[in-house]
Amino acid sequence: MSTRTVDAVVVGAGFAGLYALHRLRGLGLDVQVYEAGSDVGGTWYWNRYPGARCDIESIYYSYSFDDDLAREWEWSEKYAAQPEILRYLEHVADRFDLRRDIAFETRVSSLRFDEPTGRWTVTTEDGVQVEATYVVLGVGLLSSANLPDIPGRDDFAGPVLHTGRWPHEPVDFSGLRVGVIGTGSSGIQTIPIVAQQAAHLTVFQRTPNFSLPAHNHTPDPEHIADLKARYPEVREQVRTSSYGILLDPPTQSALEVSEEERIATYRERWAEGTLTGILQAYNDLVRNQESNDTAADFVRERIVELVDDPQTAQDLTPRGYAFGTKRPCLDTGYYATFNREDVELVNLRRTPIERITASGVRTSEAEYPLDMLIFATGYDAMTGPLLALDIVGRGGRSLREAWAEGPRSYLGISVAGFPNLFTVTGPGSPSALSNAVVSIEQHVEWLSDLIAHLRATGRTLVEADEVAEKEWTDHVQAAGNATLYPQTDSWYMGANIPGKPRVFLPYIGGVGAYRAHCDDLAARGYPGLLLR
Ligand code: NAP
Repeated sequence: MSTRTVDAVVVGAGFAGLYALHRLRGLGLDVQVYEAGSDVGGTWYWNRYPGARCDIESIYYSYSFDDDLAREWEWSEKYAAQPEILRYLEHVADRFDLRRDIAFETRVSSLRFDEPTGRWTVTTEDGVQVEATYVVLGVGLLSSANLPDIPGRDDFAGPVLHTGRWPHEPVDFSGLRVGVIGTGSSGIQTIPIVAQQAAHLTVFQRTPNFSLPAHNHTPDPEHIADLKARYPEVREQVRTSSYGILLDPPTQSALEVSEEERIATYRERWAEGTLTGILQAYNDLVRNQESNDTAADFVRERIVELVDDPQTAQDLTPRGYAFGTKRPCLDTGYYATFNREDVELVNLRRTPIERITASGVRTSEAEYPLDMLIFATGYDAMTGPLLALDIVGRGGRSLREAWAEGPRSYLGISVAGFPNLFTVTGPGSPSALSNAVVSIEQHVEWLSDLIAHLRATGRTLVEADEVAEKEWTDHVQAAGNATLYPQTDSWYMGANIPGKPRVFLPYIGGVGAYRAHCDDLAARGYPGLLLR
């Protein structure tokens, strides 16, 4: 059987893969996309759990590369729900005629670099092989579901669901005793909705999170019209901002203002309902513990106000880590859900799970009979989806070997020893600490410009220089170490996965500064990359 040869293989058909396909096609490349799902959407294809919605305002959590698309698409809510975001991505696929180059229900099982030809051999699980000059990995940051190895996990007799692998058909909770394990963003979004339908809901919480009210609503048409009227300017501001959203950068320390002023600011930000409002009220909240305490205390006080039962309120109150260093959540009615008679919180710090049984969950204190169990237990973030692919680069060295002690990468996009392979929003780029769509666009545009440059200058191979890679990797860690993040057990640190190396995975230098750095490198002929 002859192996087909294409210019580029793109893995994944979510926000990253779709745009990579569009952009590379625009260069005249012959592109093959592989997608495990049966349609486009990526994260928004898999995360169909009730309550799933974005927590960056939809007007910014959407593509900016096409002015007409941005002007014409209307979001029905400030934070659109999963079905609407999926419809948007389906619309993008139709509008730019993307599906014809995507093989759905096709999971890539291995990628091998062949030194003599300088090409990648990409093999799918059903044995199809294709050779490609370039590989773009748009596999997402949060797509390798973490199903923790709790004793007895497979014994449970009822349905077991994971928020990140939700069934396509509607799940009916009526009359059921449902258990949810995990209180990160996914758990916090789904718990209030499940509670409305289930006969009884038991929430198993290991670490309480800081959650802020979304105050979701229909967008104000005048506000949207204004943003759309000045779209190029707004897009530029977003692209050069710290987080990929419109926000005036803070200029003061939390400790420079009076307590009265600080509380008034936090109250205002709380009422606005954004993920970053409070965290970005002052310029040192993620760097200075004392400053951070002021914001953390403010949120803790709100939790106590919202929850009727004093013990439950205490159990829901996060302590012992800095606000923001575990990704905060944005919720609709989360804390008030615990005021319902039919909702119970189990504090696993006090009474750990001993085992899952056929009929429920047993903790050190009690047995909780359940009909359905939902794991909202997150992901092997950032490195998980890349390492799940069996990638072997130059000299037969696998990515798993190269990253055994944690990911090493130049700019979070290119890895030494893996020529012509690009990791969109990979570890070492702003990715997880930004509006992912803005970061995706930046990476895709930068890598496609790089490919265009290679072609224009008659080069066929590009690869990170080892020294530049080490310097960037050290810089990413140093930037992280200057903050409070490394002190917290979070998925940013890989700490949610047993045995995963503890390193700070995203780059905290800011979206705008990172973009400027990447643009400067491009203008200077890509120092740090070996072009052959
Ligand atoms: P997560 O933030 O990692 O939360 C997982 C939860 O499961 C945590 O509460 C964790 O407790 C708990 N858990 C894990 N293993 C456990 C075990 N063995 N026993 C008991 N509890 C366990 O995952 P996520 O909620 O899916 O969110 C991941 C990220 O996806 C978010 O931070 C966000 O970036 C993104 N996301 C965004 C949205 C959105 O609003 N747009 C929605 C969902 C997800 P510990 O904290 O103690 O580990």
